[in-house]
Amino acid sequence: MRIVLLGAPGSGKGTQAGLLKAELNIPHISTGDLLRAAVKAGTPLGLKAKAVMDAGQLVSDEIVLGMLEERLSQPDARAGFILDGYPRNLAQCEALQKLLDRLGQPVDVALQLVVPNELIVERLAGRAAAENRKDDTPETVRERLRVYAEQTAPVAGYYERQGRLSVLDGVGEMREVQQRILSALPRRAA
Ligand code: AMP
Repeated sequence: MRIVLLGAPGSGKGTQAGLLKAELNIPHISTGDLLRAAVKAGTPLGLKAKAVMDAGQLVSDEIVLGMLEERLSQPDARAGFILDGYPRNLAQCEALQKLLDRLGQPVDVALQLVVPNELIVERLAGRAAAENRKDDTPETVRERLRVYAEQTAPVAGYYERQGRLSVLDGVGEMREVQQRILSALPRRAA
């Protein structure tokens, strides 16, 4: 099963991807995590990405696609994957489609978690305290939400036009939201 998880920062994509990974036994691939690992390791790519990430803006399409391609080529991704944080704009939608067509592994479903903005701001403030992420400061959160509305929101329309989008309520207990996601998954071929 190849799943794209969509939703604003703080909508619960990471948490739900973690739960789904255990349930479906496929890897959770987060481009944010891949980038944070590169920053932490101090690779040239990480050094380039750091300032952009700290400002709440999008790292270049080329850098993120290269990282993603490398990750998707690893053997564990052959069984499927949960993609979290990618695609982030329409150019990335096209790039992903091309890449997955080449690998013969098209997206099965895009799941969009919808959470009201006030709740998102509250959740991200909580996460800033718990995880000490530099990009969870109030100012950067505002910028990330602006970037989301401007560049990432149209991604849902891309999958809707392909008849692959499921829009889900992301408010509620973690397990409740997980159940909504599981019910929205296409039935797997026996
Ligand atoms: P996330 O953990 O998904 O919220 O991502 C954290 C930050 O990493 C974002 O604010 C961006 O700066 C960067 N990032 C993650 N995924 C992408 C992507 N697909 N394209 C560009 N930048 C990304």
